[in-house]
Amino acid sequence: MSTRPDANPELKLVFDEPPQRKKAPKHLADLSPADRKIWAKELGLQPFRASQVATHYFSHLSNNPEEWTDIPAAERQSIADALTPKLIQLVTSRTTDNGMTRKDLWKLHDGVLVESVLMRYTDRVTVCISSQAGCGMNCPFCATGQAGLTRNLTAGEITEQIVAAARACANGELPGGEARLSNIVFMGMGEPLANYNAVVRTLRNITDPNPDGLGISARSVTVSTVGLVNGIEKLMDEGINCTLAVSLHTPDDELRDSLVPINSRFNVREVLAAADAYEKKTGRRYSIEYALIRDINDQSWRADLLGRLLKSRNAHVNLIPLNPTPGSKWTASRREDEEEFVRILENYGVPVTVRDTRGREIDGACGQLAAAEKSK
Ligand code: SAH
Repeated sequence: MSTRPDANPELKLVFDEPPQRKKAPKHLADLSPADRKIWAKELGLQPFRASQVATHYFSHLSNNPEEWTDIPAAERQSIADALTPKLIQLVTSRTTDNGMTRKDLWKLHDGVLVESVLMRYTDRVTVCISSQAGCGMNCPFCATGQAGLTRNLTAGEITEQIVAAARACANGELPGGEARLSNIVFMGMGEPLANYNAVVRTLRNITDPNPDGLGISARSVTVSTVGLVNGIEKLMDEGINCTLAVSLHTPDDELRDSLVPINSRFNVREVLAAADAYEKKTGRRYSIEYALIRDINDQSWRADLLGRLLKSRNAHVNLIPLNPTPGSKWTASRREDEEEFVRILENYGVPVTVRDTRGREIDGACGQLAAAEKSK
């Protein structure tokens, strides 16, 4: 259990929802399987219609009610519209890496824009999804953070990005033919743990077996957070056991206070303690995300401090060469400094990888998602 007093009113702010304008239409993905049935009944449908539609949605990835032959033809469209309203509408798709990376821009019911990125590798297909429109965490090196938070996405809106990706894979839209969506990372726009309930509902939609959900293994799902300690502590009790990634970016509080401003509320020691507790409870090794910024956080003494902090922890370091955002004074580290950083961590026995920069050319790499079409 947390020793952090939740009574502290300041802490609550982190979970406060921004003011919602008109609510997104309700979707079966917003609800638990039991509540979907209750809702169907409220709509005057037979409760089993909810499971039938969930089967078409999650198991068959079908968005064509004409194929839903277990539902009377005359009712298919209206039932589909009621339980699975279209929540995201494709505005543009941009591809790179010979089509293996695709960034989709989606418009939500109120005109708000969000992005997701689909990436095919030899052994897997990963979708990087948005959990909020914008982000309130204000990390100065991240494009999404610059415009602030527009609003939380609903579970339906987050799930729709994933189902759309799974459908694109199943339809063979990526070069290499039909594929199965294998991995989901909450590394698009937004801070997932600041939109906790919708994210947890989405995690269940991903991991629940067909037909209640997509039946994707929790090990293949990564929730990346700035380190909202109370969110991490709640998540470990959900029994979902997805992979946790913590955006640390520096081992010292002094610099982290400016790189990840929420550090003034949850510092390095507290964030790592929460990640350790998550690891103990779930048995899942966690990742430390570290964007290497030239002459800012890439000094060998910081690698040394990070190595000492992590050497006895069950963590893996993901170094991300900084993707400079427009107007930023910062840039990626020199090759030799990056190599030295890796070498120092390895000397401590800390597992470390350098993240590829897929999608850079289409502003689809880490920290670049900003729904730029807005300003056109
Ligand atoms: N809010 C979550 C998810 C954000 S995106 C979080 O902070 O973890 C996923 C990762 O990309 C985070 O580690 C984030 O810090 C990193 N990132 C953001 N901007 C970046 C940039 N310009 N270059 C490289 N990585 C960046």
